Amino acid sequence: AYGLAGKGRKVTVLDAPTETNKASRTNVGLIWCQSKFLHLPNYAKWGFISSRLFPELVRELEEATGQKIPVNFTGGIIPVLSEADYQKRGDYIEKLREALGEYKGNMIDRAELEKKLPKIGWGPEVCGAAWCEEDGVIDPLALLRAFRAALPKVGVDYRQTLVFDVRPHAGGYRVTTRDGVFDCGRVVLAAGLSNRRFAHFALPSLPVYPDKGQVLLVERMPYVMPIPVLGVTQTFGGTTIIGFRHEKAAHHTQVVPEAVAGEGAWAIRVWPELGKKRLLRAWSGLRVMPEDNMAIYSRLPGHPDAVLINTHSAVTMAAAHARLLPDFILGGELPETAREMTLKRFGYAC
Ligand SMILES: Cc1cc2nc3c(=O)[nH]c(=O)nc-3n(C[C@H](O)[C@H](O)[C@H](O)COP(=O)(O)OP(=O)(O)OC[C@H]3O[C@@H](n4cnc5c(N)ncnc54)[C@H](O)[C@@H]3O)c2cc1C
Repeated sequence: AYGLAGKGRKVTVLDAPTETNKASRTNVGLIWCQSKFLHLPNYAKWGFISSRLFPELVRELEEATGQKIPVNFTGGIIPVLSEADYQKRGDYIEKLREALGEYKGNMIDRAELEKKLPKIGWGPEVCGAAWCEEDGVIDPLALLRAFRAALPKVGVDYRQTLVFDVRPHAGGYRVTTRDGVFDCGRVVLAAGLSNRRFAHFALPSLPVYPDKGQVLLVERMPYVMPIPVLGVTQTFGGTTIIGFRHEKAAHHTQVVPEAVAGEGAWAIRVWPELGKKRLLRAWSGLRVMPEDNMAIYSRLPGHPDAVLINTHSAVTMAAAHARLLPDFILGGELPETAREMTLKRFGYAC
């Protein structure tokens, strides 16, 4: 919506109150591109494109709103606890470097890791890490708040209401909400898992499923992690979020202590100090996961004016979404790197 308004379009956002589908409010805020998607090289590239667009977007949002968005574009670290894992991750990175043509990362040994984050007392098993200079971390709620504050400033009409239904109507679309109906010429379905219901008028079944994550939050400690560590990430406020689970549990959103205990034990092996601290909270969230793990940016079959947007890692992708999707939504082509990310790959004509 923010990007579309920048194109001079009249945009209305219909967004549910926070209780509905709230991955946007349960995530870690990592801008994370490294060590993934060897099997989907263009999707891996898309993450790097977004990461490079982020600093300018943050600067712009801060200027527009006067709000500070805590962010570190300092690179990112994945700690490894065995020589075998070190080797495996190193091999993966080399294959990724070859597939992408460029990759600003490598394995680092323990001494180098200690130099990067000297204030962390690493566990004795930590033998090194995967490192990528293009990763980072942002306060995800501050980013969300800034987008929300920026919307009215760029002319977007933001309404908090529950959408019940979306249907073709009079050559455009009718969106029925708790607060009445809205008619429009173009519609963008970007409602996370609710898209499965809203896209029904054009698609019998959207290939997107809920991927449950559960995390633990450790009490505040002095800030020692300016470079984010995957799976055990200190927030800007000093608390630490532990967790990297992916579970298929339909819409079950309760925290299951037995399930997250394994991550807690792993985190203490990485950073033993955590074992002496209190857990403050645990929460879960449902990621929005396309069945083949790649983003879906697509017109709906038979509906050139209805666009669907669904992806996981949507914090990482936020800058690419704001900058590079509006032209597509308005009838243009997707950027070259994202061209295969439509519903065509699932057999739909669109
Ligand atoms: C534990 C966890 C950790 C994560 N960590 C990261 C991370 O570090 N980095 C990263 O890049 N990604 C991370 N993610 C993923 C990221 O949070 C999601 O990709 C992102 O939130 C998806 O955004 P979305 O807007 O598509 O969907 P959602 O966040 O689910 O939001 C859906 C939106 O649609 C609206 N909506 C839904 N139904 C209706 C309705 N009926 N009427 C009106 N509005 C409706 C909601 O109000 C909401 O605004 C994490 C996810 C989880 C669960």
